[in-house]
Amino acid sequence: MSDEETTTIFLASSRPTTERWWSKETVAIVTGANKGIGFELVKRLAELGLTVVLTARDGGRGLEAVRVLKGEGLDVHFFCLDVSNPDSIKTFASWFQHTFGVLDILINNAAVSFNGLRENSVTHAETVIRTNFYGPKLLTEALFPLFRCSPVGSRVLNISSRLGMLNKLENPKLKEILKDEDNLSENQIEDMLNLFLQSVKNGTWKSDGWPQHWTDYSVSKLALNAYSKILAKRYKGNGISVNYFCPGFTQTSMTGGKGIHTADAVADVGAWLALLPMEKLQTGKFYVVGS
Ligand code: NDP
Repeated sequence: MSDEETTTIFLASSRPTTERWWSKETVAIVTGANKGIGFELVKRLAELGLTVVLTARDGGRGLEAVRVLKGEGLDVHFFCLDVSNPDSIKTFASWFQHTFGVLDILINNAAVSFNGLRENSVTHAETVIRTNFYGPKLLTEALFPLFRCSPVGSRVLNISSRLGMLNKLENPKLKEILKDEDNLSENQIEDMLNLFLQSVKNGTWKSDGWPQHWTDYSVSKLALNAYSKILAKRYKGNGISVNYFCPGFTQTSMTGGKGIHTADAVADVGAWLALLPMEKLQTGKFYVVGS
């Protein structure tokens, strides 16, 4: 089997306009949306007329983002959600069920990296894995029963990274396991993460074949990509599409403001992907922004 396939979307080229299938009744959730790409995704979806739930781990920062959007005439809902905390996920899912009952679009955007652009420390590896992989996984699982699964399709879009591509992994055994998509299981992904955290504890992570750049972050996205493929396969034909998306090097806090894209330009692509009409909607695809 070949290495991963990606579908490139170029910012400069014009994308076909999506005929409006959604309405104010269409409900979307974006995690980690008080700033950066998440904030711009909320803004774009609200501008397009969906009902959007902006979530943030910090109440003050979340409400400030809501205030800014209100200033632009956009009305969004807010709830505190720390994706690294299973209790917070439970509380959010219960509030959401009570308040909205059904969900159409989930964008798992929240993530952390503790490295500067040219640094590679794994001091916060556990937090990175808990936030970037277990966060989206547990949240998606908690919300799955609420997906509307209507004829226009429910959607999960995981914001991921090219740093999580298989070609960044040098351990041949792990690579083989992850490449074998027909047999890949969630347990195997979690075993890989435990192995990684163990090699961080042992101090052998540099020589064990893990990705060489932003190692802990890359491993978390490697796991998220693999999980996205498993979910896509599991829900194929059941009205839920699961895709994952790398925005490319984007000017946000995560990159210290460096990057070749702006957050609003890549969020425009992300929103477009989340809103593809049913006849163009695929599942299990890795979309990447090309420059
Ligand atoms: P930012 O650092 O600007 O935003 C990250 C967001 O995630 C913030 O709102 C942050 O909240 C939130 N967050 C962090 N931890 C948690 C948590 N435990 N619970 C809830 N929210 C949390 O980064 P970007 O906008 O760049 O990142 C958005 C996505 O894009 C991420 O998934 C990232 O991996 C991905 N990406 C980004 C690239 C880039 O070049 N910028 C490249 C490839 C992928 P707070 O403000 O409280 O910290």
